[in-house]
Amino acid sequence: MPRPTRSSQKAIKREEEDVKDVASSKPAKPAASAPKRKADSQPDAEEPLANGSAKEEQQQKPKKQRKTKVKVEEEAMVLAERTDVSSLARAMYIGAHVSAAGGVQNSVTNALHIGANSFALFLKSQRKWANPPMTPESQEGFISQCKQHRYRANEHVLPHGSYLVNLAQADADKARQAYDSFVDDLARCEQLGIKLYNFHPGSTGGDAKDKAIGRIAAQLNRAHKETQTVVTVLENMAGGGNVVGSTWEDLRDIIALVEDKTRVGVCIDTCHAFAAGYDLRTPEAFKKTVDAFNDIVGANKAPLNSNRDLHANIGTGFLGLRAFHNVMNHPDFQDKPMVLETPIERKGPDGKTIEDKQVWADEIKLLESLVGMDPDTKEFAKLEAELQDRGADERRRIQEQVDKKAVKDTKAKTKKKRGSKVKKEETSDEESG
Ligand SMILES: [Zn+2]
Repeated sequence: MPRPTRSSQKAIKREEEDVKDVASSKPAKPAASAPKRKADSQPDAEEPLANGSAKEEQQQKPKKQRKTKVKVEEEAMVLAERTDVSSLARAMYIGAHVSAAGGVQNSVTNALHIGANSFALFLKSQRKWANPPMTPESQEGFISQCKQHRYRANEHVLPHGSYLVNLAQADADKARQAYDSFVDDLARCEQLGIKLYNFHPGSTGGDAKDKAIGRIAAQLNRAHKETQTVVTVLENMAGGGNVVGSTWEDLRDIIALVEDKTRVGVCIDTCHAFAAGYDLRTPEAFKKTVDAFNDIVGANKAPLNSNRDLHANIGTGFLGLRAFHNVMNHPDFQDKPMVLETPIERKGPDGKTIEDKQVWADEIKLLESLVGMDPDTKEFAKLEAELQDRGADERRRIQEQVDKKAVKDTKAKTKKKRGSKVKKEETSDEESG
C-alpha cells in the first residue's frame, strides 16, 4: 500500500522551522470548488499582524524584501470569511496550524484571515529550550482577540507542543528539561484559557517500550498535579524507529497509567494514522479504523479526540477526498477542533518560496462543503477526480521514492545475507559472486 511518509516528513519539517523559508517542490493551488478569493477585503484597523510579522522579518531578512512581503500580506489579509458553524449540517470546527510570530495574540487574527473556526499554534519557539515568559500583552491580547472574534479558546484552540520535548526521556537531566518545558506550556494554556494541549508522546531512545510508556505517564501524572484544568492530548504517530504512539495500543497503554483520565485525550493525525496502516479511504475502512480506535483506546475513557489533518493538500494525496468525506461526516468529531497541516509553500514570481495562506482558506471551505454532502453524486466524483489529478505528479514522485527505498532495503538485506553466506562458503571455494 502506498504510504505518504515523505509528505509527512515534509510537513513536520515545515512545522519545525515555523514555516519561514522551507523550499517547496510543488506549487499548491486552491481547490477548484472553493469560493473565490475575497479581494476587496480590508484589514481590521486594530490588526497587529503586520507589525508582528515585520518585527520578526526584520531580524531575518534584508529591508527591501521585508517591505514587499508586509505589503503583500496587508493587501491580502482576509482570504476567506468564516463559515457560521451552525449553517453546516454538523458542527465541524475547521482551521489550520497558524503562525504565532510576534506573540500568541497574533495567532487569532491569522486564523481569522483564513476563515478558520479552530486553530493550532506553538505557544513559544519550538526550536529552543530557553524562552522568555509570556508577556501580559500577549496574554491579554490573546484573550481579548478571542473574545472579539468569538473563538472559544477552551474548545477550539489546540496548541502543539515543542518537538524538543520527549516525555519518555530516560536520562534524568534531559527528562527534567523536557518536563519543565512541557509543564511551562501547560501553564501558558491555562493563562490563555486554553483547555486542550496536543503533543507527541515521545521516543523510547532504544529502551523497552513499556518502560518508555511508564515514563511518559509518570510525567503526565506529575504535570496534571501541578496544573489545574488543561487536558493533555496525545497525538498518534506515523511510527518508525523508537517512536511511541503509532498504534492505538500505545495510546491505550499510556492512558491506562494516567491517574486522572479527565486530563488526557487523543488527537488523531489522519496522515500519521494512514502511514501507520490505519486506512480511512472507504467508508468500510474508515469504520474499521474508528471501531478499532474505540475498542482499544476507548472513546469513553478518552473523551476528547480531536483531529488533525494531513500533509498533502486535501484530496490530492494518497488518502483521497473520500477519506475526508468520512472524517467530516463522522459524528464523534463534531464540536472538536480540526486543524490543517497541509503544505502552503509555493514559488513566488521571483523564484523565492512564499506561503500562500489562500490554500488553507480554500481547504477549510472545501472540507466544510463535504459536511452532509452525498458522495454518490456526479458533483463529488468530479471534485474527487480533479483533486486526484492535481496531485498525480506528487503522488508518483512519492511512490517512486517509496519503491526506490524498498528496492534499496531489499538489496541491503540481500547483501547482508549474501555477506554471511560468502563467509560461510569461503572455505568451500564455491562463491563466484
Ligand atoms: Zn504533531
